[in-house]
Amino acid sequence: MTLTPTETVRCCVAGGGPAGMMLGLLLARAGVDVLVLEKHADFLRDFRGDTIHPSTLEIVHELGVLDEFLRLPHEKAYELRAQFGNVTTTVADFRHLPTRCGFIALMPQWDFLDFLARRAAAYPTFRLRMRAEATGLLQDDGRVVGLEVASPEGPLRVRADLVVAADGRHSVVRERAGLPVDTLGAPMDVLWFRLSRAPGDPTTPMGRFEAGRIFITLNRGEYWQCGFVIAKGSLEELQARGLDAFRREVARLAPYAAGRVHEIRSWDGVKLLTVQVDRLRRWFRPGLLCIGDAAHAMSPVGGVGINLAVQDAVATANRLAVPLAEGRVTPEDLHAVQRRRELPTRLTQRLQLAVQRRVIARVLTTRAPLTAPAFLRLIARIAFARRLVGRLVGLGVRPEHVRSPARPAARTTAST
Ligand SMILES: Cc1cc2nc3c(=O)[nH]c(=O)nc-3n(C[C@H](O)[C@H](O)[C@H](O)COP(=O)(O)OP(=O)(O)OC[C@H]3O[C@@H](n4cnc5c(N)ncnc54)[C@H](O)[C@@H]3O)c2cc1C
Repeated sequence: MTLTPTETVRCCVAGGGPAGMMLGLLLARAGVDVLVLEKHADFLRDFRGDTIHPSTLEIVHELGVLDEFLRLPHEKAYELRAQFGNVTTTVADFRHLPTRCGFIALMPQWDFLDFLARRAAAYPTFRLRMRAEATGLLQDDGRVVGLEVASPEGPLRVRADLVVAADGRHSVVRERAGLPVDTLGAPMDVLWFRLSRAPGDPTTPMGRFEAGRIFITLNRGEYWQCGFVIAKGSLEELQARGLDAFRREVARLAPYAAGRVHEIRSWDGVKLLTVQVDRLRRWFRPGLLCIGDAAHAMSPVGGVGINLAVQDAVATANRLAVPLAEGRVTPEDLHAVQRRRELPTRLTQRLQLAVQRRVIARVLTTRAPLTAPAFLRLIARIAFARRLVGRLVGLGVRPEHVRSPARPAARTTAST
C-alpha cells in the first residue's frame, strides 16, 4: 500500500482567483505560512471580468504597489454609459470618488492574478501550487483539518489549521462541507466573444439595450470584449437561427463594428457563461471559511464580483492574520468575517437582483421599442445621482482597508 504524501501548512486556500490570490498575498505579507491551490495550469481562462474597481485599486495602493500595478497595460473607464434606443446616458461617474483612482482599470483578469502571484512570491511563507485541485475535505471529529488534492504527481493531502474555500461559484469545497446555499436566481446568461477595435471606435464601456437584446462592450485596447446577454436557456434557439443571423444582430447593436462581425468565425469563438446568484447561509465550519464567489456567487451586473472577492480577502486577513500566525483561530473569528462581509454582500446582491428584475428581464422579454427607465433618465439629468451610482459601483458598501500586519518581503520579484 502506498501512502498519500501529506503537507502541513497554517492556511490552505483552495482556488487562485481574485479572492484566493489576494488572501494568499495578504497572509504571506503578515508572515503566515500559506499555500494556495489552483486547479488550472495558468491564470488564463474564459472571460470572467476585467474590471478592477476604485476600491480594489485603493487596496493595491495600501499595499504600496499601485504605481507598479498601473504600469501594466490597462484602459481607464471614468464613467459607465448605457444606450436605450438611440439615447445614450452616463449612468455612473467615478471621477469624484475619495480614492487615489477615480476610474475603473480594465485589465485582463490573468494580468491581475499574475501580478498578485508575483507580489506574493516575494514572501517566503507563500506557496502557490498550480494544477492542484481540491477534491475533498480532511475531517477530524467534525472539524475540517485539511484538503484532499489531485495533482499531476498523484493524490496529496494538505493538513491546515484553516482551509479557505475561494474556489468560485461551483465550489467543490463548500459542497463537500455541506453548507446550505440560498439560490437567488438570474434571468440571463452571457455570450462572450471578441471583435477587433479600430481608430474612431468609442472608448467608454457601454451597455446597449434594445428590445430583446443587451450588448456590453469593454475596451481591451486592441479589441472589444463583447458580452451578448440572452434570456437564460435561450442559447439553442439563438444558435438555431444561425451564425449569420447572430452576426447581423451584433452589427445592428454595434454599428461601428459592422464591418468586423465576420471575425466571429464559428460558435466555438462564442463562450456561454451561465449567470448564477447565490449566497451561503453560513460561511464557515470549524476549520473552514468560504469567501468570494464560493460564499456568494455574484451577478455580472455592475461588474463588482472581483471587487467583492478582494474585499472578502482583505476582511479575512484583517481578522485572521494574527490568530493564524499564533495558531489560535476560533469559529468565532470565522463568524466575525461572515458578519463583517454579509451586509455588503446582501445589499449588493439585492441591488443586482433589482436591476436583473426591473431592467434586464424586461428588456430581454419585450418586443416593443425601448426607452430608458425613469430612474435612469433621472440619473442622466442629475450629476449627484451619477456620482452616487459611481460610489455604489466603484467603492461598494463598507469598503475594506488593509489592516493586517506587514513583514518585509525577503525575496526579490521580477519587476513588471
Ligand atoms: C459572465 C460573467 C461576467 C462577469 N463579469 C464580471 C466583471 O466584469 N467584473 C467583475 O468584477 N466580476 C465579474 N463577474 C464575477 C466575477 O467573475 C466573480 O465574482 C469573481 O471572479 C469571483 O472571484 P473568486 O476568486 O471568488 O472566484 P473565481 O474567480 O471563480 O476563482 C476561483 C478559482 O478557483 C479555481 N478552482 C475552482 N475549483 C477549484 C478546486 N477544486 N481546486 C483548486 N482550484 C479551484 C478556479 O480555477 C479559479 O481560478 C462575472 C461573472 C460572470 C459569470
